[in-house]
Amino acid sequence: MAKTALITGASQGIGACIAKTLAADGFNIAINCYSEREVENGGEAVAAACRELGVEAECFIADVSDFAASEKMVKAVKERFGSIDALVNNAGITKDGLLVRMSEDQFDAVINVNLKGTFNMLRHVGAVMMRQRSGHIVNISSVAGAFGNAGQINYSASKAGVIGMTKTTAKELGPRGITCNAIAPGFVRTPMTDVLKDEYKAEILKQISLGRLGEPEDIANAVSFLVSDKAAYITGQVLVVSGGMPMGI
Ligand code: NAP
Repeated sequence: MAKTALITGASQGIGACIAKTLAADGFNIAINCYSEREVENGGEAVAAACRELGVEAECFIADVSDFAASEKMVKAVKERFGSIDALVNNAGITKDGLLVRMSEDQFDAVINVNLKGTFNMLRHVGAVMMRQRSGHIVNISSVAGAFGNAGQINYSASKAGVIGMTKTTAKELGPRGITCNAIAPGFVRTPMTDVLKDEYKAEILKQISLGRLGEPEDIANAVSFLVSDKAAYITGQVLVVSGGMPMGI
């Protein structure tokens, strides 16, 4: 039976690329979209691209920061496909600002989606995978979470929290044959980073050893490895995919 992968925030950017890459690997794909608008503006096209690769694919609407909505979506995916073999917690937002200027709303919004949203999905899919006694989970963190980043106190806190949850999940679910790892991307060209000023991008580029910004495929290929049998003995790890940004050194 074909395996199923559930990817959150998969209507665009890195999530859409992960969906198509895992479809090429032979997974049936459950594409989580925040709302009907995301289904129309990207999710359905991602599903169609996956189907062209010969697998089944469908969109599932849920705001991952909503505990009950996440649970309902996970049940629907399990009913539709029979199992959830890979979970990629990719949905994420930024609301950047310097520490002393950041509002409470800015902080709470980012924590709710990036940190609580990842918890909600781990909580509900973890229960499914425990019953299955198998599964691979990849949480998308960030170099900002691993090493900090000026102007992103909310985002770096959320992504550092994701690393903590990754290690705890690996310890709790490992005995049931489930792996859980994190990927910490550097700077990847997506709608999230398209909005940043060209001068900022040029500054970032100077710090990247490989001399180019990351592409969604760079992250999707790492996910493809971590949800494959080739990574069966890797769990609780953070894989930095940044082209050699020197953060933390
Ligand atoms: P993106 O293009 O903005 O995509 C993020 C996706 O998450 C969007 O489809 C978004 O939907 C969805 N989303 C937001 N809130 C959601 C919610 N509450 N429930 C469900 N889905 C929700 O960003 P990206 O660059 O591909 O980023 C993907 C992941 O990689 C994020 O976790 C991000 O933090 C991480 N990351 C990105 C970079 C980078 O340089 N791009 C670097 C490090 C880490 P809407 O369009 O409706 O908002």
